Amino acid sequence: MGVILYVPVKLFLACSAVATLAACTMTTDPAKPSVSSAPFGTLPDGRTVEIFTLTGGGRVTMQTISYGAVITSITTPDRNGQTDDVVLGFDQLQGYLIPPPYFGAVVGRYGNRIAKGQFTLDGATYHLATNNGPNHLHGGVKGFDKQLWRAEPFAHDTDAGIVYTLTSPDGDEGYPGTLSVKVTYTLSHGDALTVDYDATTDTATVVNLTQHSYFNLAGRGDILAHRLQIDADRYTPVDATLIPTGEIADVASTPLDFRKPAAIGARIDADDPQLKHAGGYDHNWVLNGAAGTLRHAATLEDPASGRTLDVSTTEPGLQFYSGNFLDGTLTGKGGRVYQKRAALCLETQHFPDSPNHPTFPSTVLRPGGSYRSKTVFTFGVARP
Ligand code: BGC
Repeated sequence: MGVILYVPVKLFLACSAVATLAACTMTTDPAKPSVSSAPFGTLPDGRTVEIFTLTGGGRVTMQTISYGAVITSITTPDRNGQTDDVVLGFDQLQGYLIPPPYFGAVVGRYGNRIAKGQFTLDGATYHLATNNGPNHLHGGVKGFDKQLWRAEPFAHDTDAGIVYTLTSPDGDEGYPGTLSVKVTYTLSHGDALTVDYDATTDTATVVNLTQHSYFNLAGRGDILAHRLQIDADRYTPVDATLIPTGEIADVASTPLDFRKPAAIGARIDADDPQLKHAGGYDHNWVLNGAAGTLRHAATLEDPASGRTLDVSTTEPGLQFYSGNFLDGTLTGKGGRVYQKRAALCLETQHFPDSPNHPTFPSTVLRPGGSYRSKTVFTFGVARP
């Protein structure tokens, strides 16, 4: 097993081909952004999946694997300096090869649901897998979360990251057009993880990429005591299969009102038809402000540890999913059993089922155009 370390300036160090990550004794200035890589596992077809360990030179360390562009760990300090891993995941590659729940992955081509796995574009009707009840979810059976991405690490003076690229062929999972996708993770000295998405196509298609990390800022237990604030006056109500009805409704006077910080558990079991449909929160909030400009979307805080997460995005929407479908059947990192609501997702995105809702912001990408999206996750600590 080889371990390679990428550091800024002209320093490039490589451990010997027989060194293991643990055995590699290279020392570097901890304040310098760096990326190291090592083999993580082997796919059934023999290809190697790499794991990258990034530090931006701040207090956060993250790991990501080239399979699914999955973020496998994010380690941050609490208000006492105690570090914990704040995302769900698995110790072994095998865990990521199974179907949902998309821990840490980039999902695409279309993150979220498309009703009945069907949409019409330029007069042609496309049929996609119905892999979530009657609907299509997160790009299908073998979406971008189940692909091996090409990875290029980089390290600069104030940040470090990985450029992941993927070519999705014409007809992939039923979608038209050859799609060239680039997702860049950049971890900064200021503990901000920026996710930049770029895509181009050779034929008109639909695109909606998102990052599917499951956060638990306590590093254990459930997320019901986390406090959440979302910059959204409105949301898209759903039917019983979690497809938007097309209505854009006010959050005012509903349990979906997170305009002021509120404990997630305070209203999650309220007698509300929207919460009943989803078994909790699993909705798209219509973010305030102009889509296309980077603006604050949400703040999450764990009062016990003091850890905070700020989310900014250029996207028009945010899916807040409260981990309702986790049910104790998955055992993750360190043998932890992931129970219902063990973590939550904050998925910046276009609205679900947009290809079937002409009034929603468009997800159509045409040849000559480019899909661009940016989301910044900033980790911090609140002082009491
Ligand atoms: C969806 C949930 C789904 C989860 C895992 C989320 O993005 O909103 O309904 O269960 O992904 O697939």
